[in-house]
Amino acid sequence: MQALAQRINRTEASGIRKIFDLAATLKNPVNLSIGQPHFDVPDPVKEQAISAIQAGKNAYTPTQGGHDLREALLRGPLSNYREKEVLVTSAVSGGLVLSFMALLDPGDEILIPDPYFVMYKQLALMFDARPVFYDTYPDWRLDPGKIAAAVTPRTKAILLASPANPTGSVYNREELVAIAEILEKHDLLAISDEIYDSYCFDNPFVSLREICPARTIALGGFSKSHAMTGWRVGWAAGPENVIQAMTKLQQFSFVCAPTPFQSAAAYAIGFSMQAEMANYRAKRDRIADGLSRLGYSFVKPAGSFYIFPQTPWGSGSEFAETCIKNNLLVIPGGCFSERDTHFRIVFAAKDETIDQGLDILGKLFHPRQSS
Ligand code: PLP
Repeated sequence: MQALAQRINRTEASGIRKIFDLAATLKNPVNLSIGQPHFDVPDPVKEQAISAIQAGKNAYTPTQGGHDLREALLRGPLSNYREKEVLVTSAVSGGLVLSFMALLDPGDEILIPDPYFVMYKQLALMFDARPVFYDTYPDWRLDPGKIAAAVTPRTKAILLASPANPTGSVYNREELVAIAEILEKHDLLAISDEIYDSYCFDNPFVSLREICPARTIALGGFSKSHAMTGWRVGWAAGPENVIQAMTKLQQFSFVCAPTPFQSAAAYAIGFSMQAEMANYRAKRDRIADGLSRLGYSFVKPAGSFYIFPQTPWGSGSEFAETCIKNNLLVIPGGCFSERDTHFRIVFAAKDETIDQGLDILGKLFHPRQSS
């Protein structure tokens, strides 16, 4: 048999998949593991997608994106950008693939926060670049000293995610200004993953692109804001040369984001999700209050829909496996980190599911009480 490309061996299978395999043996688990909103796409947004299909918007759009979505982005959230600085992508995953491809040669280094969203590390490995982690334990804050110390002559980019998966941390202006100074000093670019920008519970969202647009490739989309995870629409905005390079790569890979869903996304930009976001803020409080009552140690998330507590005993894997044996699906921290000391809970769930999860976590707090 023909050998597969080396990148297949370099890329590790997602630890999350292994957990889902384990979970497949459960009949009716309390599922706090799925990283997507628990609500459905709002009906008016669905109707836009249906009308777009019926109106024949089913062919390719230009690679850079269809007119209606580009207009809506350039008039709305990306109004500080010019035409050639914006690309419609196949969701944020598409933007990540293209930005990594556009920036990284084999052997180049990209600085990635630890804990991280799994795709960052695997994409770096896939493109034969080196993921270099900057530690954000134990409070998930950015430490400019640690980040600057990780820069080498091979460093090309710094990846930032705010609000973050799996920690829920949201960076403040001061932290971002410090990052901007590092970018300037070492002539680097940042990839800013802003997929959870609408899930900011305590303070308004601040983006690195407001502070240093010339060095920031911002990636955003609709998967989380409007629950369109299966519709695959997002955007990239940044320096013209990078966005044009990504556009060239998109032409020979994704071609374009799905056409009818681009139209629906254009409509979604003006469709307020404020009520849902207020609902998620209450869910954040519910899980955080519940965990502190039980004695768990964690940092209260300021955004996204994840919370990343320390395990009360054992490694992240040992604790998560015990949770699963007790019918609760959570993900071990080691799936998102070079350490395995925490576990991830998703609070994008019905309140009663969150409460059931808390009941089980209460029983498992002391190892002898677990089954
Ligand atoms: N970035 C982060 C931090 C995520 O958590 C996810 C999905 O879970 C993505 C990107 C990918 O999102 P999309 O559906 O837009 O590709």
